[in-house]
Amino acid sequence: MNYALFFYEACFRDSEVKSMSVTTVIVIDKYGADIALIGKAVRPFGHALLWAENIKEGVKLIKASKPATVLVNEELLGGKELNVLLETIRAHRLPTQLVIISDKPDFEKSMDWVAEGVFSVISSPINIERLRRIINKIADSQVLYETIINTSLQPSSHQGGLSIYKNLAGHLESGPLLEALCDTARQMTGAARVEAWSRLDLDSQVMIASGPTNAHCEKDVTLDLSWKGKCLGALKLIFDDDKAADRLDYNIVDELVWAGSLFLSQSARFEEALKMAFRDPLTGLNNRRVFLEALEREFGQAKRYNTQVTLLTLDIDHFKAINDTYGHQTGDEILKWLSGVIMSVVRTGDLPARIGGEEFAIILPRTSIQQATILAERLKDALAISLIPNCPGILRPTVSQGLADIEHFLVTSPQDLIYWSDQAMYLAKRDGRNTIRTISELQAKSTFQDVEYVFQ
Ligand code: GH3
Ligand code: MG
Ligand code: MG
Repeated sequence: MNYALFFYEACFRDSEVKSMSVTTVIVIDKYGADIALIGKAVRPFGHALLWAENIKEGVKLIKASKPATVLVNEELLGGKELNVLLETIRAHRLPTQLVIISDKPDFEKSMDWVAEGVFSVISSPINIERLRRIINKIADSQVLYETIINTSLQPSSHQGGLSIYKNLAGHLESGPLLEALCDTARQMTGAARVEAWSRLDLDSQVMIASGPTNAHCEKDVTLDLSWKGKCLGALKLIFDDDKAADRLDYNIVDELVWAGSLFLSQSARFEEALKMAFRDPLTGLNNRRVFLEALEREFGQAKRYNTQVTLLTLDIDHFKAINDTYGHQTGDEILKWLSGVIMSVVRTGDLPARIGGEEFAIILPRTSIQQATILAERLKDALAISLIPNCPGILRPTVSQGLADIEHFLVTSPQDLIYWSDQAMYLAKRDGRNTIRTISELQAKSTFQDVEYVFQ
């Protein structure tokens, strides 16, 4: 499954492409192994398909053919290559969208790529239908892009250009919206450089600019971008001569403030929706859907490359009693605390998720059941000592943990991993809770008969 794709599909579902233009698609891939397959998604719509073997050739082709879509294999993106591609596209103001083909799409990494400006990430083997949707969506947005550029080049219709973006605002992240705002603001005001600051996330500020970094500043004007009394960012117009600054029309200023504020408020909603599609709102962990897709993927990878994968399932002991004694709000605090502790003990690459009310799971790729047991012990120890915020005087909760691994003969599918780690977790419950049990122990115990029964 590719996450970014899901998000684009989700966002555009109700604005399905009706009229679609013909564009160029470039594939950058060392061996061109997927070319024939990609052709099936591209050619029936009349798009042209070009192939480059490496990033250098790809950059040349991009500059020459101004494609709408560039599909690049992740294998070629070891160092600064992604930046090179994005910079080429930005520096030449190309209406080009980048799509990464990944053998093993990783959720966090995909989100980082999308944040950097990548349109989507698709997994290999490629799903033709999804690729078709992406390419056609990009083709459609290129038409819109051209309309915007053409409109904003005519001084009388800048407002029209911003209005088009207004319609797009709920479908885009803040980056491309602020880029459009800076470009349009420069054209409308004659400023040498325009900078836009976004403070959607209080932990980080994003700056987008149009115009040279070393633009001489004779005068500058800073405009606050806020929505319903909340400061979301600012727009700074830098003038290199007094006259242009003095000519600044306050209707234009109003227009820019209005558009910028709207863009930031809409993209905040969009970015939030994006986050919610993958995260459990209470704990911020991956949700069940992400978990199931990741498990499927990791299981497939482990089989393919003959590596290990272990699933750890855990459930809070006597959680109902916690809710009954201290109230649901405290119960929620416990869920958040537990998620935080889980996050603090896992490694990069491990995939923790909230899969039910008070049930959690951690997918542990390339981890044997012995190594996973060490992690489970570490989690148990951390839960025994870590401070529980906002729950004074509470009796410290414990968890029961179950583990199942791909090497075990009872496990032949991702569903088996879920089933047997769950069974092991229930054995942990039966064995007194606050404990850890594995699929092998389950088999060794009297429950073996049940196992055989289930298996028949
Ligand atoms: P056991 O040790 O056998 O797991 O006992 P338990 O009480 O934890 O198990 P049970 O399945 O009976 O109870 C689970 C409880 O989890 C019941 C439900 O109210 C609570 N729960 C599920 N989701 C949430 C949530 O989001 N917030 C809160 N506060 N409680 C939740
Ligand atoms: Mg439960
Ligand atoms: Mg429970």
